[in-house]
Amino acid sequence: MIERIRVAPPCPKCGSKETYDIIPELEDDHNVQIDESLLIGLEEYSLGNACYACIACGHKWKKFRGRRPYLDLESFKAYVGGFHGPCYTIGIDFRTGELTWDSEPDSYYEIDVLQNREERVLTESELDWLREGLYKCDVLNWADNYQMFAIMDGTQWNVILDGEAYHEVKQGSNHFPKQWNRFCKLMEKVSTRSFR
Ligand SMILES: [Zn+2]
Repeated sequence: MIERIRVAPPCPKCGSKETYDIIPELEDDHNVQIDESLLIGLEEYSLGNACYACIACGHKWKKFRGRRPYLDLESFKAYVGGFHGPCYTIGIDFRTGELTWDSEPDSYYEIDVLQNREERVLTESELDWLREGLYKCDVLNWADNYQMFAIMDGTQWNVILDGEAYHEVKQGSNHFPKQWNRFCKLMEKVSTRSFR
């Protein structure tokens, strides 16, 4: 069942309230985009998208603009895991630079019974590099929810970003933002451990 989380603010250019959040899995056409019955026909879909369009004037815009919101990042958490494992969690406190990486073993096959934990403190320049990487992945503008119909196991993930003026939760099941691989590489580089 599709939970309806379609919210779009008024157009910043013309003030019209005839706006919608762009669902990237649907054709880029006003009539198609606002027809929610078409979502049923999709194998993969995303909801709570952070890119909007105005029907009145055609303007398109994103919820978060530029690098500025990333400078306000206070804490960050990312998780990826499968139904049978392994699972990885990365937490970063941008105020102290503390990074933790945790892994849970593959419970189904019972490979690697030891849990793993890695802790390190990131330098200011590493934190700047990470903010830039998150900005390039456009993480704050990811949709709230990426889903694939009818599949419950497979890969689950979530990313939580807390800033001075926002609390963003992104999650998915077997469906991913287009920058997902780039994001996983960033997580692996910053933690020096696995994340995918
Ligand atoms: Zn407009």
